[in-house]
Amino acid sequence: MAGWMASDTLRAKLPVYDGTMWIGPRGGKKVLNDASLLSETPIHKHIVLKQNPEAGLIAAIRKELVEARSEGRPINVGAARHSMGGQAIPRDGTAITFDNGTVQVDKQAQSYRAHAGARWSQVIATLDPVGLSPMVMQSNNDFGVAATFCVNAHGWPVPKGPMGATVKSLRMVLPDGDLVTCSPSQNVELFNLAMGGYGLIGVIVDMEVEAAKNTRLVPQFEVFPAEQFAGAFRAAVQDPAVSMAYGRLNVARKTFFTEALLVTYRETADQTDLPAAAGSGWMAHAASRIYRGQLGNEEMKRFRWWNETAVGPTLGGGETTRNSLINEPVVTLDDRNPSRVDILHEYFVGFDQFDGFLAACREVIPASYQEFLNVTLRYVAQDDQSVLSYAKVPRIAAVMSFSQEMSARAEADMARMTQALIDRIVAIGGAYYLPYRPHARLDQLAQTYENASTFSKMKRELDPQLVLRNNLWDNYLERL
Ligand SMILES: Cc1cc2nc3c(=O)[nH]c(=O)nc-3n(C[C@H](O)[C@H](O)[C@H](O)COP(=O)(O)OP(=O)(O)OC[C@H]3O[C@@H](n4cnc5c(N)ncnc54)[C@H](O)[C@@H]3O)c2cc1C
Repeated sequence: MAGWMASDTLRAKLPVYDGTMWIGPRGGKKVLNDASLLSETPIHKHIVLKQNPEAGLIAAIRKELVEARSEGRPINVGAARHSMGGQAIPRDGTAITFDNGTVQVDKQAQSYRAHAGARWSQVIATLDPVGLSPMVMQSNNDFGVAATFCVNAHGWPVPKGPMGATVKSLRMVLPDGDLVTCSPSQNVELFNLAMGGYGLIGVIVDMEVEAAKNTRLVPQFEVFPAEQFAGAFRAAVQDPAVSMAYGRLNVARKTFFTEALLVTYRETADQTDLPAAAGSGWMAHAASRIYRGQLGNEEMKRFRWWNETAVGPTLGGGETTRNSLINEPVVTLDDRNPSRVDILHEYFVGFDQFDGFLAACREVIPASYQEFLNVTLRYVAQDDQSVLSYAKVPRIAAVMSFSQEMSARAEADMARMTQALIDRIVAIGGAYYLPYRPHARLDQLAQTYENASTFSKMKRELDPQLVLRNNLWDNYLERL
């Protein structure tokens, strides 16, 4: 740990490479990091593959697999490397980044075929002019399409489940070099292992994914005591007129998680002449300044809550489109502070367990040293496909954003707090999300993901030489 502390300021100032924190060589060694800036890991090499998902790309992947296997090295493919615990980094291995945004739309079938490395901004740019929109993606547009499938991310359209449920088929190169097509009806076992399988099952080259209609939407805002949120959110999710929905909770320490905001979007009567998808507007940039002002400032946290619940509905309450809402890059919220880093956590709890979740958070989070900046609440429908499913029942997802000091003290406190939160959330039947910091204990992972040892067993059968590896495998799944 001392290694990364010594040069944190320098590190944060190094160039961002293709969305990937690419640092090196350091002391003669090549190293790779991710968006956490806390995952620095030695690698053998990093290559970027730009080919279309045809014979050239497949041959290049096979060549790397053969070379890595003969040298006993791991391989891993990443996209934006916004996972935060080295889930897209192979220790001493070959890190591959795909750089190709090819997206072909089938308007008739309301679907599209995307290169595995295409980013959501590229998907939106292709779908928007033909009146379509991604069915499910994360809240930001920087991430890779196959990466989204590999973490099985969710978004905030309701009543949808994770993105994997919207994938019609995909092609993937297995560790032995075979190219397979997988779908919910073909090679189903492989499909379900790869969905949320963090790139450990095969290298995905392209995917056919369902699209939704782009629509003009108008928001509605409601504020109430936090204990009323689950009931109101359930009603919103079940309302067929609601197509997007999210919640927020107040975060000032003294009144932590006592009030809730619910924002629901419904289609307007007029769906003609939709404007082109916008990027971040002035509202998003202004909100970002207030958001950052919360750091160490309880007054500002209260101001932001007032702004979101009282001012926002008036100023930001106008019509927009589905594509404009999801076309937001991560950089809008960037802190530009070299001594701190934004760290996310995410927990999934059943609607009936929401009060228990509030109690757990009130007990654990304000007592820590961490700066808690935001929580967004989303809906995730039940996922019975993915082997490493985090939604065995319909769940409320709580995406939390912390600003963490880049120091050993802060890292130790974050690890302690994370384990305390996971203990309480698992005790109420909830789950934690795997793409973030690797602070959970192994027993917590095994308890949360009851099929994890089955996943590891099947991975070993498919990949006996363990050529596809990353820090999630090395830190956890290998030990099951
Ligand atoms: C600001 C922010 C907002 C977020 N919002 C959400 C949200 O709304 N909902 C949500 O569910 N999550 C959210 N996340 C988490 C996010 O979905 C994951 O971190 C995701 O991994 C990011 O995509 P990426 O392109 O950075 O993936 P990477 O970190 O590059 O890769 C993720 C995984 O996919 C694998 N992979 C990538 N490409 C391939 C391929 N072609 N073949 C095989 N394996 C591959 C990698 O090996 C790795 O294991 C958010 C994260 C951040 C930082």
